[in-house]
Amino acid sequence: MAHGAVGGPGLPQERTINTAIPGPRSQELEARRRKAVAPGVGSSMPAYVVAAGGGILEDADGNRIIDLGSGIAVTTVGNSNERVVARAQEQLAAFTHTCFMVNPYESYVEVAEALNRLTPGDHEKRTVLLNSGAEAVENAVKIARVHTKRNAVVVFDHAYHGRTNLTMAMTSKAAPYKKGFGPFAGEVYRAPMSYPYRDDAAAGTKVSGEDAAARAISMIDKQIGADDVAAIVIEPIQGEGGFIVPAEGFLPALADYAKANGIVFVADEVQAGFARTGAMFASEHEGIVPDLVTTAKGLAGGLPLAAVTGRAEIMDSVGAGGLGGTYGGNPTAVAAALGAIEAYENDGLLERAVEIGEIIVRRVEALQAKHPEIGHARGRGAMQAIELVQRDSIDPNPELAKAVADHAAANAVLVLVTGTFGNVLRFLPPLTISDALLEEAFDVLEKGFAQALG
Ligand SMILES: *Cc1c(COP(=O)(O)O)cnc(C)c1O
Repeated sequence: MAHGAVGGPGLPQERTINTAIPGPRSQELEARRRKAVAPGVGSSMPAYVVAAGGGILEDADGNRIIDLGSGIAVTTVGNSNERVVARAQEQLAAFTHTCFMVNPYESYVEVAEALNRLTPGDHEKRTVLLNSGAEAVENAVKIARVHTKRNAVVVFDHAYHGRTNLTMAMTSKAAPYKKGFGPFAGEVYRAPMSYPYRDDAAAGTKVSGEDAAARAISMIDKQIGADDVAAIVIEPIQGEGGFIVPAEGFLPALADYAKANGIVFVADEVQAGFARTGAMFASEHEGIVPDLVTTAKGLAGGLPLAAVTGRAEIMDSVGAGGLGGTYGGNPTAVAAALGAIEAYENDGLLERAVEIGEIIVRRVEALQAKHPEIGHARGRGAMQAIELVQRDSIDPNPELAKAVADHAAANAVLVLVTGTFGNVLRFLPPLTISDALLEEAFDVLEKGFAQALG
């Protein structure tokens, strides 16, 4: 089944509808899945993939689907990117595992060097490699606690940090991420986020980033006390929360507060990092230099790899054996990361993310002019979203988001729904998508809106 399917840049770059989506073969697989796979794992679009590359996912029925999701911000360099595949294949033939904690290897060190060089700030840094974004966030908290000898961790409304016990506690949204899964880890405190669309509407005026930060800082001072806070952990652009870009000045004000109070400032760049926003890291758009940066999704071109990178004096606080894990920095995953990093640095992907953003913004503005239900459009580079509301209010409209995403799926376009209120459509295509496919995807979305809104 699908043996020898070839994806990567050679996959024909055209939307093709062969059958209903999901087609008969995908439906067969879905029936098997229902008996074999835990139902707690969902899938946005039950079209089973056999190959992917460029801006296309090819399914088991021969449908070719335009990919506006990148496996949730992972295949930023394109699926089966040539540089990733070449390095990973070579590594698989050499050795598959030693455990870095038993016998080290050069490629792990090379990835650490690259992350130390690429993350914001030119201070001395160190990196630890892990397997998932959640694991990176957990480790950032461990490191911050040891370094500061404090316990409290500050997170924000609409935050998403993962599905492990600590990161569930740090995540904002109850259903489906937390409900029933407690008790959660303690010493996690939630501060108000800067959410310009909803903040401005509630205040009846523009709320500055500085004012939004003052609101968060006041809560931290009153409810915890700055000198008990180990870390402030924030996504510079929130991912699952709905691609919320905080008001300008919010992140710098928080970073300054952290610095003034000996708090470790952690940027969770798991979703926004690696060229997605048109900069290597989203923190750069406001010139902030986090103490620690967590990365994962875009890091290894689709292989599981994550990292915490940060100031040497903070990272050096944890003694040998305190960090690690059997598979952390797996040889094939680090080889893939070296390929992906080579692509980010040599293939014009930062510029491409900006161009993709321009196309999306142009198409979204045209849509917005027709449909006031598109309450807000926001994002940076190839990380763009629209928030859908009821006509003449800012009440969330998750039904419309679902209707448009369903129309898109039926017409071979994958678009992901997200946001605290389930009313955000997010656009995060692989940076290898062509202009033509992107425009075609928006033609389909345009029809979806016309159909849903009549
Ligand atoms: C996805 C995500 C995580 C969790 O990453 P996993 O690899 O799924 O554990 C953490 N933080 C952010 C911002 C994310 O988007």
